[in-house]
Amino acid sequence: MDNNTAAARENSRQPTPQDLDVLSRQLGRPVRDVVEIPARCVCGNPLVAATAPRLGNGTPFPTTFYLTHPVITSAVSRLEAAGVMNEMNDHLAADTGLSAAYRSAHEAYLAARDAIGQRAGIGAVPEIDGVSAGGMPTRVKCLHVLVGHSLAAGPGVNPLGDEALERISEWWTADRCYCDGAWDTSGEAPSRDLSRHGPQGLPGIVGRPAPVRKTANQAEAPQ
Ligand SMILES: [Zn+2]
Repeated sequence: MDNNTAAARENSRQPTPQDLDVLSRQLGRPVRDVVEIPARCVCGNPLVAATAPRLGNGTPFPTTFYLTHPVITSAVSRLEAAGVMNEMNDHLAADTGLSAAYRSAHEAYLAARDAIGQRAGIGAVPEIDGVSAGGMPTRVKCLHVLVGHSLAAGPGVNPLGDEALERISEWWTADRCYCDGAWDTSGEAPSRDLSRHGPQGLPGIVGRPAPVRKTANQAEAPQ
């Protein structure tokens, strides 16, 4: 990529105050520790927020890519409700090519998180070494996580995130804006936590003192 493209990409990653306002409206709660916007609607609104691998209160945070656009989030929830995760887990068990590609997606996730942490000036986060999200590298536990990763990484990195995107194309496609009416744009953006648990099982601990946790994996389980 040439320098202009690189500069444009760098600029589009930086969350503006407007982005943060949109994110909190999309999620119905204030956002914290968002360091980049790794995927945007064709209109420019955020689709995915990248959270720092260590929160401001010191908590290690393995789930880097958080799907925020309500139209995509609800479409992915439909897939989950229709049992698509079971289907994918069966495919993973039966198809060694797929399971190898999924393991590579896990590695790519970890590398992307390291890069985001470095750009955000956060040091190593050894507590979550080797721990990604969404069930990777061997299971599918949250399609929102995989779709968030696919949107952030682009096609060809996360095969199951890509498949999920393909399967929501009836409701959302990357070439169109679906923002109009997708969230409340009136009044003030949310300034307190209105939805403690998002569809991705975001731990309710964000912004509070770090509790004692057994493993980062367990903290990922939907609550
Ligand atoms: Zn849009």
